Amino acid sequence: MRKRVFISIFLTSLLTMILTFILISWIMYNNTFDSVKREVQNESFYVSDALKTYNNDTADMFSYLNRAGLKSRNRITYIKSDGTVLYDNLALAADMENHSDRPEVIEALQTGHGEITRYSDTLGESIYYYAIKLEDGNILRIAATTKSILGMMTGSAIWIILIFITFISLSVIIARLLTKSIVRPINNLDLDNPLSNKTYDELSPLLLRLDKQKTELMENVQEISKTRINFAFISNNMSVGIVVFSEKGYITGANRSARDILGIDIQQFFMEGCRDLGYIKAVRSALEGKPMTAKFEKSGFVYQLSASPVKENPEKHAALLFITDITEKDQAEQRRKEFSANVSHELKTPLTSISGYAELISKKIAKKEDVPRFAEMIHTEATRLLQVIEDIMKLSRLDESDLEKEFEDVNLSKLCTSVINDLQQIAQNKDVVIKSDLKNVYINGYSPILYEMLYNLIDNAIIYNNPKGYVDISLAEEEDEIILTVKDNGIGIPPEHQPRIFERFYRVDKSHSRDTGGTGLGLSIVKHAAALHKADIDLTSTPGEGTTVTVTFYNGDK
Ligand code: ADP
Repeated sequence: MRKRVFISIFLTSLLTMILTFILISWIMYNNTFDSVKREVQNESFYVSDALKTYNNDTADMFSYLNRAGLKSRNRITYIKSDGTVLYDNLALAADMENHSDRPEVIEALQTGHGEITRYSDTLGESIYYYAIKLEDGNILRIAATTKSILGMMTGSAIWIILIFITFISLSVIIARLLTKSIVRPINNLDLDNPLSNKTYDELSPLLLRLDKQKTELMENVQEISKTRINFAFISNNMSVGIVVFSEKGYITGANRSARDILGIDIQQFFMEGCRDLGYIKAVRSALEGKPMTAKFEKSGFVYQLSASPVKENPEKHAALLFITDITEKDQAEQRRKEFSANVSHELKTPLTSISGYAELISKKIAKKEDVPRFAEMIHTEATRLLQVIEDIMKLSRLDESDLEKEFEDVNLSKLCTSVINDLQQIAQNKDVVIKSDLKNVYINGYSPILYEMLYNLIDNAIIYNNPKGYVDISLAEEEDEIILTVKDNGIGIPPEHQPRIFERFYRVDKSHSRDTGGTGLGLSIVKHAAALHKADIDLTSTPGEGTTVTVTFYNGDK
């Protein structure tokens, strides 16, 4: 722009100068031509006056003409009234043709003087002729050529050229300075704050527009960055992992979960960060246009990988991968499978015994005296079977979610006393003493399930006890908490078994538990019952010293 402004200013001044120069030259030329005319006319008068004094003394007259002709820079011609050239200071008169037809001569013969400006082809220049009729009827003609005019002008030409050069240099400097001063405010524009600029009025609409666009742009950028931050925040805090693959299999996007779970990173090729076969197969399949799911295990967690194609055109597919933590679901599935296996095992064992003894009796293989013992065995196993089925039913009841509807205020101390009474006989049989310190407390709960919970805890404390052992049951209230403690000084539970005893069918000593009639479901029922009442369970046990189970109920909101 600077260059264009400079060239424009310079060309304008140059053009102005050239035009001025031409105009001045033309005016000067005309002025000079006028003065040349006047000079020629004056010279004609002087010469004609001088010629008068010679009174037709031809010799003197010609000698005067010669002198005058030599001094004059004009052409002096002396013409006879019939047109014969008698003298010419620039040519031989004899060689010159008759001038009677020359308009200035004709005019002078008629009016006393005549003038004309004629262009001469031979000389290639304009000539001014002034003719004057002398008293003797002859004509004196004096002519000046434009050459002489230009000659007059040549003297000043050098100055004109000098002035011209000076002005051109000046115009270059001025054009430069002007360009600078024009461009400077534009160069110094503060585009970050368009409205703060104090510059040309003509720029105001542009600056206003700039300011408006800048505000809009800022708003858009803010909106976009807000959305981006939000998206990054959401995606990075999502437990679900998301990975985006380009059609060539490069990772173009991955949230934090995905990066942590798979150990991948953005811009890697999909096989680079994670070499798991399921993952590779699923992503490859999605890139080929077929959705696929796979299981991925890492650090004790199980994830489901769902890869699906993103169709850009029928041949090329980008891919999306969702990673979901299914550890709990997987464990639940595992537990369900184990439970089914356990259930069938727990049912099959007594049924096999029952069926065996019954067969012995029915086929009369058993000796007569053994039949009552076998029948007793069948009865024991059947009772066991019933116990298992009952416990399974209790557990499945606990799995139902609508039990909270049955909640009411339950007097826990009363319930405890009732359980103690129900178990007193068993305790006596085992020579175990039950001691209790029960505060009269109420909780909001479902009485039959709370009964089962207390029963199983106290039952275990009796069964897994030693003769002369004791069971200490206490109910206490602390602020909003109601604390039930069932303590025994029985056989205790080895530490390695403690984390698992709440699992279904888990028993520390399978054979002993079987003897005691345990199903391995008691503590599982306790755990579920506590969860239903939003209570916490704590178990401390030392083999050979005893076990303490504490259940904390919260009467306020937990
Ligand atoms: P079970 O019907 O076999 O008693 P539970 O679920 O009630 O099943 O208990 C699981 C296992 O935990 C029992 O087999 C037993 O080995 C152990 N256990 C439970 N309570 C006690 C306790 N108070 N003292 C010692 N061991 C216990």
